[in-house]
Amino acid sequence: MHEFAITQSMCDIVLEQAKKARVKKVGKINLVIGEMTGVVGDCVQFYFDFISRGTLAEGAALSFVMVPPKARCRDCDKLFDLKEFDWTCPYCGGNSLQIVAGKELFVESIEVE
Ligand SMILES: [Zn+2]
Repeated sequence: MHEFAITQSMCDIVLEQAKKARVKKVGKINLVIGEMTGVVGDCVQFYFDFISRGTLAEGAALSFVMVPPKARCRDCDKLFDLKEFDWTCPYCGGNSLQIVAGKELFVESIEVE
């Protein structure tokens, strides 16, 4: 049910923006989702179809940009792709990591008709 709440708030944001801009119909919603959020695009799409029914966003296409996880090592300050279950720095072996990408979850843009 994780995705349901997320989709609901996403839908609220989109509708609020659409109302402000006096949009008659939302055509496409571009979403950025970090892979570490565990959010599944198909689930969001499923809930979206349900939640958006009867609103300005009904029938809008969803587009997902998935962001792979990245980390920065606090010891040597290097940036690298974070592998699942491997939380050590490939450069110095340190394990004091800071997540810098992969937890994103936001509406990047809305396209209107
Ligand atoms: Zn390091």
